[in-house]
Amino acid sequence: MRLTEKVALITGSGSGIGKSSALLFASEGAKVIVNDVSHEQGMATVQEIRQNGGEACFLQADVTNAAEVEEMVKQALQQYGKIDVLFNNAGISGVGSVHETSEELWDRVVNVNIKGVFLPSKYVVVHMMERKTGCIINMSSCIAEIGLMRRAVYSATKGAVLALTKSMQVDYAPYNIRVNALLPGTILTPFVENYLRTSYDNPEEAFETLKKRQLSGDLGKPEDVAKAALFLASDESKFMMGAPLYIDGGATFG
Ligand code: NAD
Repeated sequence: MRLTEKVALITGSGSGIGKSSALLFASEGAKVIVNDVSHEQGMATVQEIRQNGGEACFLQADVTNAAEVEEMVKQALQQYGKIDVLFNNAGISGVGSVHETSEELWDRVVNVNIKGVFLPSKYVVVHMMERKTGCIINMSSCIAEIGLMRRAVYSATKGAVLALTKSMQVDYAPYNIRVNALLPGTILTPFVENYLRTSYDNPEEAFETLKKRQLSGDLGKPEDVAKAALFLASDESKFMMGAPLYIDGGATFG
């Protein structure tokens, strides 16, 4: 068990990569605080963890809302007394080149994908600083490093998360806090299914194109990223600080 006695807060863990990570962390002994904006999805994750014999609770909060995030962190600390791991996973997609992107879409994606990393970090890190220990994992994407068509605002946010990760690492290293980033390629989750359905006339053809973009010739699975998150959350990665970890089937180098 790699996370025995650890308490992990995972944002957006009602679906996809976050859900898979919550299940894996719990199976490795962590007490998992499942966060999501969706009560139904978050509770479903908690129930699955409990059915498997794990420990979890659900705290609903929109990661873009400071008051809700502050209250979530307060309740998490009341319930478990500490947070060892913060996984800033929640994120949304945004499709379009710059000229096609509405100001409303720009603001929404920037808000969830960047402010949604800033706010949970802001309220959790003070607690980690007091304890002089902690691990923060930020969800970036391989898109931070490669140009993909019609993903202007999404690319911008994931590049920002990578830069923020490095800045946070420098600030919090003196407190024995590690801050690393995950850079997945295309992972088959509801997020990608929705993107294919809403962005292409022929989603099946687009699906085949996406597969070819990765050297692996296939899309990743949520579990592939969850295993990398587990590695970053555990002491096995204790010498990794401010690092980008690619789980992209070779998309970045292909
Ligand atoms: P998903 O849509 O399956 O899950 C995202 C979860 O986040 C959902 O349960 C949703 O309700 C929740 N969420 C959205 N906005 C929220 C908010 N404001 N507050 C709290 N929760 C919120 O998506 P996924 O594919 O599992 O993606 C998870 C993360 O991984 C995202 O940050 C995404 O950008 C990133 N990512 C995904 C891929 C991919 O191909 N799937 C690739 C690279 C990076």
